[in-house]
Amino acid sequence: MLQVNQLGKTYRSGQRELTVLQDISFSVADGASAAIIGPSGSGKTTLLGLCAGLDRASTGSVYLNGIQLDDLTEDERADVRNRYVGFVFQNFQLLPSLTALENVMVPIELRGERGAEKRAVALLERVGLQDRRHHYPTQLSGGEQQRVSIARAFANAPRILFADEPTGNLDAETGQRVEELLFELNREAGTTLVLVTHDVDLAHRTQQVLRIRGGRLVSE
Ligand code: ATP
Repeated sequence: MLQVNQLGKTYRSGQRELTVLQDISFSVADGASAAIIGPSGSGKTTLLGLCAGLDRASTGSVYLNGIQLDDLTEDERADVRNRYVGFVFQNFQLLPSLTALENVMVPIELRGERGAEKRAVALLERVGLQDRRHHYPTQLSGGEQQRVSIARAFANAPRILFADEPTGNLDAETGQRVEELLFELNREAGTTLVLVTHDVDLAHRTQQVLRIRGGRLVSE
């Protein structure tokens, strides 16, 4: 379960302060799906990052799987992310010097688990890319790169998957395929899915829609 209580975020640089999120509270049940929508600059990516433990809130709290992220050090948050969280970015963020297979193996090896290659092959098979496993990111289409990044996000069998505009850089048909894959994994593996999107159709496929405007939650 993801639980967010009166969350706020203020960015500070020098004398200047910018409050981008204020008083946000909601929860997403285990295995559920939720979309964060809202105008550009409204704070969606910031909110996703706080929920995933990529950054720390200025006020309020985030509980992930019962663990309060705000109390943790940077290293402890990284540990929680490695254990429970998968993240998919709009621009894929694959490591360019590694093949598809090696990209998927990275988080498994970081956890010090054995059998990384076998598991990574199975994950690439799951996303339909077994025959592309020795290709480098530049040799893959955008949709293929996003599928590799989804396989990588699932490498540690996360309890919760965060996706920041996962179909934003893809054409409609490819985006549709990636969307199907995310919902299949949500259903099959029971992985909680929280995504940021500008795509209203995608948002309406989720069980919960969180609308952000000017850093506040305006409707759920
Ligand atoms: P978009 O839909 O365009 O991606 P968004 O809703 O995801 O936008 P955020 O990326 O969360 O919005 O940004 C919200 C506000 O916070 C913006 O005004 C942005 O300039 C500001 N912001 C984001 N990250 C930082 C940072 N690290 N330091 C200072 N300001 C930031």
